[in-house]
Amino acid sequence: MSISAPVNLLDFDVDGLVAWFAGLGEKPFRARQVMRWMHREGCDDFDAMTDVAKSLRAKLKEIATIRAPLPVRDSVSADGTRKWLLDVGNANAVETVFIPETHRGTLCVSSQAGCALDCAFCSTGKQGFNRNLSVAEIIGQLWLANKLLGAARVDADEDAAEDAAGLEAGEQDNGRIISNVVMMGMGEPLANFDNVVTALRLMLDDHAYGLSRRRVTVSTSGIVPAIDRLRDECPVALAVSLHASNDALRDRLVPINRKYPLRELMAACRRYLERAPRDFVTFEYVMLDGVNDSDAHARELVALVREVPCKFNLIPFNPFPHAGFERSSAERIRRFGAILIDAGIVTTTRKTRGGDVDAACGQLAGQVQDKTRRSVRLQRAPEERR
Ligand code: SAH
Ligand code: SF4
Repeated sequence: MSISAPVNLLDFDVDGLVAWFAGLGEKPFRARQVMRWMHREGCDDFDAMTDVAKSLRAKLKEIATIRAPLPVRDSVSADGTRKWLLDVGNANAVETVFIPETHRGTLCVSSQAGCALDCAFCSTGKQGFNRNLSVAEIIGQLWLANKLLGAARVDADEDAAEDAAGLEAGEQDNGRIISNVVMMGMGEPLANFDNVVTALRLMLDDHAYGLSRRRVTVSTSGIVPAIDRLRDECPVALAVSLHASNDALRDRLVPINRKYPLRELMAACRRYLERAPRDFVTFEYVMLDGVNDSDAHARELVALVREVPCKFNLIPFNPFPHAGFERSSAERIRRFGAILIDAGIVTTTRKTRGGDVDAACGQLAGQVQDKTRRSVRLQRAPEERR
């Protein structure tokens, strides 16, 4: 028996597994074989990998494991949205949400236990930050959801058919239960860059999930240097959490703006589009009653994004206890959107899904041991804070 902890093979992308296998004296095709068993078949038992040499299986059983986080709660919303609470150890838990729609199924994946960026309206941010998720914990969410949903086998390139039919990517069922992945769960994906990019590579790789770049979306609050790195290392669809039309307001709602203000963020979006798989950036904009939702804000936004090919996704604010914000009325959201649409910007309003199981955007709370002790600071009286 090996005394060191077994290596979790879910931590490797294909190149990483090939290199690790090389260290065992095993050929690259063996690594790819095991990769397919793990990710395409959802297999976590080396004995079941029937076309892998018996001696290799025996060796792997001794030194390796295939381990995704364990689900500790599984909730299904009346609208079919399904949320899993996953144990990631040391009393931390993160959430993964599956959103079924007529022509696609989207998995919303978490990247961190908590989040350090502290956006004013976000339940995850209110919990403070504990730690980055490992590659196995990130890709393990897709691995597990596929398994628990009884997913269809991955089939090859759907994009060609879509293009031929003149369809927007993502608008046609590609025969998979999980057709799209969005990094919009708990945490800021670009603050856990290396692990997120390795997990993205697995999502895209034909030996693993084989999703097209346009069906994998990273959502960021706007960490400018990391947007540039993503463009260079693994360009996928990009969503940017804008939420404000000027720096003074955004400094308050999305504090990372104090470091990377709007002018720099807009320039980073333009640079990203040079290599992006889609020819627009999606701007997410949470609708907060009386805060960022006036006609004047909408007009200011139109001017702000003038040089960035983009679509807008308006997100009705999802409340959580002690949030301190209210959702804009449906009529206000409609009129705000109409100003953007009149200016020629494609604008959609996000349907709130899974609200009855607290699975809607910004409601993911999981369970985080707050290393930044933010929750304690917030509970104390002001004179006690130092
Ligand atoms: N950290 C990343 C991704 C996770 S949050 C980011 O900030 O982009 C996914 C989206 O939900 C972001 O646009 C975020 O701003 C938004 N969001 C956060 N709290 C929300 C709430 N209470 N109601 C609606 N949307 C919220
Ligand atoms: Fe973090 Fe995103 Fe929430 Fe901001 S909105 S606190 S970046 S998870």
